[in-house]
Amino acid sequence: MTPRRKTHQVMVGGVPIGGDAPVAIQSMTSTNTHDIDATVRQIRTLAEAGCDIVRVAVPEKRDTAALPSILEQSPVPIVADVHFHFQRAIEAIEAGVHKIRLNPGNIKDRKQVDRVIAACRDRRIPIRVGVNEGSVVERSDKDRRAREKGRLASDPRGEMIRLMVAILEDYMRIFDANDFHDVVISAKSIDAGMVIDAYRAVSERFDLPLHLGVTHAGPPETGRIRSIAALGSLLAMGIGDTIRISYAADPIHEVEDAKELLCSLSMRARVEPELIACPTCGRIEIDLIKLVADVRRKLVGIRVPVKVAVMGCVVNGPGEAEGADVAVFAGKGRGVIYVQGEQTRSVDEAEILDALYDETVAFAERVERGEASLTGAAVNIVPPDPLPRADGSIPLPVSRG
Ligand code: SF4
Repeated sequence: MTPRRKTHQVMVGGVPIGGDAPVAIQSMTSTNTHDIDATVRQIRTLAEAGCDIVRVAVPEKRDTAALPSILEQSPVPIVADVHFHFQRAIEAIEAGVHKIRLNPGNIKDRKQVDRVIAACRDRRIPIRVGVNEGSVVERSDKDRRAREKGRLASDPRGEMIRLMVAILEDYMRIFDANDFHDVVISAKSIDAGMVIDAYRAVSERFDLPLHLGVTHAGPPETGRIRSIAALGSLLAMGIGDTIRISYAADPIHEVEDAKELLCSLSMRARVEPELIACPTCGRIEIDLIKLVADVRRKLVGIRVPVKVAVMGCVVNGPGEAEGADVAVFAGKGRGVIYVQGEQTRSVDEAEILDALYDETVAFAERVERGEASLTGAAVNIVPPDPLPRADGSIPLPVSRG
């Protein structure tokens, strides 16, 4: 992991972005913003799942009119997403939003752009500007469009990145002329490789905080790989101050995956159990895949980051489960449960789920009472003797390899 690149810090309500602040998770509501109850409900659900900042679209006046009530009820800072109407931006700022998402290039009248920037400066509200691969090529000036298309044909990736940086430089000239510096930048594409290259170029050019994202990533089934490949690579390079994973699905999945990404990179502390499971192989003698799914569901609600391992056998399971606070090793029709390296129970297959849950809850309660501590380090699990099969035969020799 490369150390985080230090950027200028901005405040989005009480959440810092950039500098040495932790990487913040963002998401966006999928409700009509003027439907206050539905929007507040979704904001609360996202916040409970770990979202730090929520963005809402404000395409119409009735949407900005809903903002005061939404802001009053929201547990996290709110960003207003404005596209073309500078008046919506002014209304959102006056309502008290914590950040504005807008591209100066979408508002033709420069005086209107200056008014929005002045209003944000007065209230110390940051603005996010962004470029998307799909909209950087010039549209109205035909000659310029032809020139850009020609250069793109000869060097698609290099020229696209040059265009993205050039547009951002144009935006920054407008902000500099207004002596406004609380800007967050994004540079998105649908292509994970392009996202990586674009943000690397942008991070070399600007010292402003970066909002990472892959645009139009698709449903979670496919968008997840695209997003994690791009965002995970950038974060590992020390690039990125806030992330939004975006899916064509309920935004709760965006937050869950963003949180898991940050936890996996040790950039955010876990607050819930971490589940480790073996990938299964020909040695498996119980329905481990179902057991893992059942354990995952059952652990929801435990608010202690206990490391729980569900392993299919005693051959490689103990070695691979090292560091687990609670672990089960399954054999034919039975499971042996360990708590921090000590064997505590041996139960029938039908009882594994409940027994593992009970041991996990009991251990979590001991942690909360200060009677036990989470390992955070390897626990030396001694493999149990091979579990005899129902016919009394011994399944496989125990090996620590
Ligand atoms: S723990 Fe056992 S069953 Fe699971 S993948 Fe490893 S060897 Fe196979």
